Amino acid sequence: MKIGFIGLGNMGAPMAANLVAAGHEVTGFDAAGVTVEGVAQAASGAEAAKGADVVITMLPNGQILRTVAGEVIPAMDKGATLVDCSTVDVESARAVAGQATEAGLGFVDAPVSGGVGGATAGTLTFMCGGSADAFARAEPLFDIMGQKAVHCGDAGAGQAAKICNNMILGVTMIATCEAFALADKLGLDRQKMFDVVSTSSGYSWTMNAYCPAPGVGPQSPADNDYKPGFAAELMLKDLGLSQQAAEAADADTPMGQAALELYRRFVEDEGGRGMDFSAMLPRFEKRHRG
Ligand code: NAD
Repeated sequence: MKIGFIGLGNMGAPMAANLVAAGHEVTGFDAAGVTVEGVAQAASGAEAAKGADVVITMLPNGQILRTVAGEVIPAMDKGATLVDCSTVDVESARAVAGQATEAGLGFVDAPVSGGVGGATAGTLTFMCGGSADAFARAEPLFDIMGQKAVHCGDAGAGQAAKICNNMILGVTMIATCEAFALADKLGLDRQKMFDVVSTSSGYSWTMNAYCPAPGVGPQSPADNDYKPGFAAELMLKDLGLSQQAAEAADADTPMGQAALELYRRFVEDEGGRGMDFSAMLPRFEKRHRG
């Protein structure tokens, strides 16, 4: 397949490299001039998109996606498919889907879970929205870049699944960290806390697979001075998206709101920017009363 790849950052670069390794012809463009071995370099997004069967975007946010889509969609051949893997707001995904459909293109919103490690290993999970046809055309590429692709529904459904998942993740991480901080105050050994909770009804991915306490549980960013991993500011971005969606849909999400406020304070006022999102645990330790 001829593939255009726009946005070769932390995630996009290894994803594009995996497509090259699988034998696809990939032409890439990144605004910061990033190059990837085996990916032909285009001078613009439109140039990368010209003649491609599938164009993949992996960009920072919905605003940038809308701008890039405005340049790329007119350059694509009718019948080609645009796949956006960025995490963006549901409205931007639906707006770009509408433009793509009008131009005679297929569109799939396909945000991912699995981080840079998953992008490099080709083990991402794709959560997808769009027509069955468009999904079927993109699926062989999801199989290369990931280990699972779930077709969640129409355009925007992939983004909806992603932000709901990450709202649970943010809330659960905070709950896990504040429980560890409380356990410390109660004189409970952290390893004992892990041994009990990881096999009791308080277990979760944040406790069992990504434990925020250093030296406890499997290897995680806590064991590496809380270097990301998944940065606190990215969690803040995703909680912003879930609250924006909740507002638009008139959904009541008080825990999502509380998590958003805690991560906002952590990132903007308490030195959390650039740290892993599990650094909420030392944050609670520092802020103990008394
Ligand atoms: P990143 O900032 O490393 O990469 C984004 C790239 O887009 C940058 O290289 C930037 O130069 C490029 N870019 C920006 N504007 C552009 C434009 N107009 N034209 C072409 N290129 C442009 O970010 P990332 O970590 O690769 O994340 C990408 C997306 O994936 C985000 O939406 C993020 O929320 C999502 N995501 C990230 C992770 C993660 O762990 N990093 C996990 C899941 C999802």
